[in-house]
Amino acid sequence: MVAVDTPVASWTELDLFNPTSEHALLRQTLRELVRDVVEPQALEHDRAERFNRDLLRQCGALDLLGLTVPAEAGGAGMDAVASVIVHEELSTADPGFCLAYLAHSILFVNNCYQNASHEQRARYLPKTISGEWVGGMGMSEPECGTDVLGMRTTARRDGERYVLNGRKMWITNGALDDHTLGDVFLVYAKTDGGAVSTFIVENGFPGFALGQKIKDKLGCRASTTAELVFDDCSVPARNRLGEEGQSVVHMMRNLELERLTLAAMSLGIAMRCLREMVRYADERVAFGRPIRDFGQIQRYIGDSYAQWRAARSYVYDVARRLDLSRPGNRVDSDGVKLFASTMAKEVADRAIQVMGGYGYVAEGVVERLWRDAKLLEIGGGTIEAHQKNMTRDLSRAAGQLLR
Ligand SMILES: Cc1cc2nc3c(=O)[nH]c(=O)nc-3n(C[C@H](O)[C@H](O)[C@H](O)COP(=O)(O)OP(=O)(O)OC[C@H]3O[C@@H](n4cnc5c(N)ncnc54)[C@H](O)[C@@H]3O)c2cc1C
Repeated sequence: MVAVDTPVASWTELDLFNPTSEHALLRQTLRELVRDVVEPQALEHDRAERFNRDLLRQCGALDLLGLTVPAEAGGAGMDAVASVIVHEELSTADPGFCLAYLAHSILFVNNCYQNASHEQRARYLPKTISGEWVGGMGMSEPECGTDVLGMRTTARRDGERYVLNGRKMWITNGALDDHTLGDVFLVYAKTDGGAVSTFIVENGFPGFALGQKIKDKLGCRASTTAELVFDDCSVPARNRLGEEGQSVVHMMRNLELERLTLAAMSLGIAMRCLREMVRYADERVAFGRPIRDFGQIQRYIGDSYAQWRAARSYVYDVARRLDLSRPGNRVDSDGVKLFASTMAKEVADRAIQVMGGYGYVAEGVVERLWRDAKLLEIGGGTIEAHQKNMTRDLSRAAGQLLR
């Protein structure tokens, strides 16, 4: 899949959600995958709190794991809009699996491509783009999440290696099952002087272990979440990404795409909830009429649709302009996630209300989506962190309000 510009006769004909024929084809491919493969396994994996590794490999075979990596480096060479399409469509059926996909393809693969040397790319991208290895990213710690620069994990240079000590918490894909550590991670740690550096850490490096697989999550249960432990963990110096102490820019660059794709997950959740509640309101009869005739039900559906469309337009507008190679639009990557995550939670809540008892049980799907939606107000930055960042960025660049 290679993105090319599809000229449109007039700007009014632009389809914001499928701007080129490649994007439209990608969406069609995803819809078929979701219908035939993703949907049938979603409930079972949620119940069992199990990550579907075969499905990730299948995504690899479809060229989806290196979606944003240029073709010459083994990827599909597509853009942020393509990434939004994939996350949106997967989340109409299985946001839990989609979170695992995000941690692998955005937090590891894209981040690695953007910040690694040619030699590091050659060593780590083929196995992760194919899905042979499962990747993730370790930033958060038991004592700090929002205050990320307060991290305590350290990396001390010792000749041709670094020695890492500390713990990373809440790491998606940190475990493959209850006992098995994931395959490879980008790990942030403080080097000399307290600045942050990034390391590629493999399962099998001495001193690197799975602390615990975190169980009984509210939602996104088809992805694993784990604590990772570094106990005098020995990492070759050639596994440091970029210069020592220069990693805040890696983080910021990656966080923009992470937040955008988390917002895309919210869109998928809301789209599915709308489909379910509209169908149910048509079919369900009460007091001799379909419940869609009742004003209160109409308010749930009308408000949900308008909010979903507003969020969708905002997300695709930001995606269209996102430059994957450098940071630059934090106010809007925070903004889309702030707006879309709460929108999805509220739409899922209304879907349950419209569907009554049927909405409250697992077979109704919206129950699971409601649980999954809550994560999006926390993971990848809390909504309070977005409000904080946006206010700071807007006060520094008031021009944003004059565009
Ligand atoms: C399922 C799941 C998957 C995750 N996957 C990953 C992963 O793969 N990699 C990774 O590195 N992390 C991951 N995370 C961690 C996630 O990014 C953090 O949970 C998140 O950043 C919040 O950090 P925290 O949980 O430490 O909460 P805290 O930062 O302790 O926040 C607690 C509360 O205080 C508020 N707060 C904190 N500071 C401020 C402030 N200045 N102003 C106002 N309010 C504030 C927060 O908004 C929140 O409401 C995951 C988390 C979950 C739940």
